[in-house]
This record gives sequence, C-alpha cells and structure tokens, in this order.
Amino acid sequence: MMKKIKFSFSAEKKLWVGDGFYVHPLLRPQEGLYQFTCPFILMDYSPPFEFGKTSKRRGVGEHPHRGFETVTFAFKGEVEHRDSSGGGGLIKPGDVQWMTAGEGVVHDEFHSESFSKKGGLFEMVQLWVNLPKKHKMTKPKYQSISDNIIPKLVLNGKTQLRVIAGKLLSTEGPASTFSTINIYDITCSSEDTIELSLDDGSNTIILVRDGEIMLEGNVFEKNTLVVFEQAGQKLKFKATKNFKGLLLNGMPINEPIFSYGPFVMNTKEEIEKALSDYEKGKMGNLN
Ligand code: MN
Repeated sequence: MMKKIKFSFSAEKKLWVGDGFYVHPLLRPQEGLYQFTCPFILMDYSPPFEFGKTSKRRGVGEHPHRGFETVTFAFKGEVEHRDSSGGGGLIKPGDVQWMTAGEGVVHDEFHSESFSKKGGLFEMVQLWVNLPKKHKMTKPKYQSISDNIIPKLVLNGKTQLRVIAGKLLSTEGPASTFSTINIYDITCSSEDTIELSLDDGSNTIILVRDGEIMLEGNVFEKNTLVVFEQAGQKLKFKATKNFKGLLLNGMPINEPIFSYGPFVMNTKEEIEKALSDYEKGKMGNLN
C-alpha cells in the first residue's frame, strides 16, 4: 500500500536566527501535527542566501538545549559549533553534525572563520530529533559525520541517495540514533521516478530544497514540506524538475511532549527543572 499525503505546507516567511541563519521555520512542535512528524520536532531551512564578506562571526551565541538532538546538514557554506561537553567541529558542504543534548549542553553555532572572510552562498538545514523518555537525560554526545563516510547509492542508474541515518536496501548510514530513523539526502534528475519501501506505521517527511516533485498528481516546489500518513509501506514520486531534498522517516515515539524554547521534555515539571538547572549552570558553559 502507498503512503498517502497527510498534509503539506510551503514556506512563506523567513526569520533570522541570530545574525547567521535566515530560515524558513518549516516545522514546530504543534499540537495535532507532532504525532505525524515525531520523532522530528523542528526544522529550520536556510535556503541558499548570499552573505557578504565580514571580519566578524555571524551566527547564534551561547544557548542551552536539553531532552533532544540537534542535527545540522550543511549544503553550502561552513558552520562551526562548540558545546560545553567538549564536542564541536567544523561542518562543510555535504557534512552532517549530530549533537545529542541529552541531559543538557550549552553551545554556540557560527559561520566558520574562513567562510565569514570570503562570504558566499550559504544553505543549511537544522533538525531537532526527539529522544525517547528513557534517553532524555543521556550524556551529551557529538557525532561529526563528514561527507566521505556517508554511503551513496545510485538507483535506476541516476537517482543518488546519501544514506545519513538508518538503512536503505542493505546500505547503512553512519549516524547512531536512539530510535528507528532513516534519513536520505536525495538528488534526482528531471523525469526520474523514485520508489522506496518504508515501515508501515512510520512517519515520513520530504523537504523539497530545489526543483520539484509530483505526488498524487500535485506538484511540490522548493521550500515545501510534505508529510505522509503512517499507514503504507511504499513511497513513490517523480521529479518534474531536477530535485534535491531530504527524506526523513522514523517510528513515532508515542510519549507526550512538553517543549519550551530550547528544551523538549515530557512534562511541564521537567521543563521547570531544565530552566532551573540551566540557571544554576548545571548544563555547563563554554570556556
Ligand atoms: Mn542550538
């Protein structure tokens, strides 16, 4: 059975996150929607944007997280992260940074020094992945997933899929995850048709970054998110213009969530505890 479209939305507004990320806020933990996107909580997409040269560092200064993971996908430009658990690194085009905040970190996220000096096109995705209740207070962890360790599969002799997390056919992605997740970075030429098998009962989201795809007779253009029904094991679509996009798939974590700013927990009491732990400096600090 085919997975059917549950809903879709196109980005209209953009907002600045700090002074380095000019994003379409595509996904937020909204009541009524989260059950169909879980374990994916939030997605900010910075479509290609030209930054001029500067001697300062654009980005987002020190801030905390608890209870989930932040995953940054670099497509153009470079970002540098540092966190209070000692994790951090430089991510370049094609690289993915997977940071498990768990019990809590503070971190900062800036354009790299060399990108800032040169300027140029910048394109990123930041995704928040929820942690199951039993792992929310796990120790912080940092996975630096560089492009050269991400397996690339070619289907039908032309469509390229980079397997970042989970599995595709017998190819496994490098990311280690706390729940069942598949993430593919897909590039298709115009007129290619792609057909994938996914688990029945899983949640599936496609981000169209570039080009367009046709699904159920409708065309979805860039800066659009398509969310599918949980029922069904097959997903089939056609690129009607050279397509680039991310496919996110995961088994839902059937637990309540309570989110507030940079914290995502299960209850209001746990959020209050997170705020007080942060204020007391229990999530560490940079330097
Ligand atoms: Mn952050």
